[in-house]
Amino acid sequence: MATAQETLKGIVTQRNMRIPWNIESQLREEQVATEVADGVYQLCSTMTNIYLIEDDDGLTLVDAGVPAQMELLEAGLECIGAEMTDIKAVILTHVDPDHIGLAEPLRKAGIPVWVPEEGYETALNGLGKPPLALFFFMWRPAYARFIRALMQAGMTDAEPIAEAHTFTDGQVLDVPGHPEVIATPGHRKEHCSFWLPERRILFSGDALITMDIMSGKAVAPEPVRGGNLFNYDKGQQMESARKLGTLGHVTLLPGHVQPWEGDLGARYPSAE
Ligand SMILES: [Zn+2]
Repeated sequence: MATAQETLKGIVTQRNMRIPWNIESQLREEQVATEVADGVYQLCSTMTNIYLIEDDDGLTLVDAGVPAQMELLEAGLECIGAEMTDIKAVILTHVDPDHIGLAEPLRKAGIPVWVPEEGYETALNGLGKPPLALFFFMWRPAYARFIRALMQAGMTDAEPIAEAHTFTDGQVLDVPGHPEVIATPGHRKEHCSFWLPERRILFSGDALITMDIMSGKAVAPEPVRGGNLFNYDKGQQMESARKLGTLGHVTLLPGHVQPWEGDLGARYPSAE
């Protein structure tokens, strides 16, 4: 298993890599479960990232990917010597269809699911048809590959979550790892990030990601591109980026593609 340092060193050399959008590559052993930070494992780096936070009480699963990633989760658990019953909570940064796929199956298996309060209704009522805006950028080959891969992995079949706990800004969740909630609206109105202050680890979901979804290139952390066509409010996206900038030096674990380590404050300084 790669150590956190090796993984982070890898990022520097992969800054301009083309990202292969096929699910098989996730099942290569080195990508099944990478310890990206102390006691934090990343499953997958080519579609939607799922993370596991480990502490003495068990595991918390951060973001639930797409339905086909169940196989990846099972392989990941095996890889770190854990079992499904070690997962004590599923926490979601937002309720987009590419982040909730395993939530309802895991809830049915008895694992409580936590969602941002503002996304509660959507989580319970289902997401409806994918918005037309999703297809607006399909003329871009890298974007089209990404969306097609997510669709093939069952993104649009993600089940609504029948029952969920909710959280709001500033709350410290009583789940393994005790992440703190930072509301980061913009990509979606309910979007929240999770922060582990002692380990300085930030789960940024889709508030800041390390890929340009239009070109498929890896980039330093930035809000999801596509403006208001693809996001709820691009002004709020920037405000949330600056809010995360106040955390300073972090290990950033994004919703998509590779982790990043550095000073977020230098990238997103607060407005004077
Ligand atoms: Zn996403």
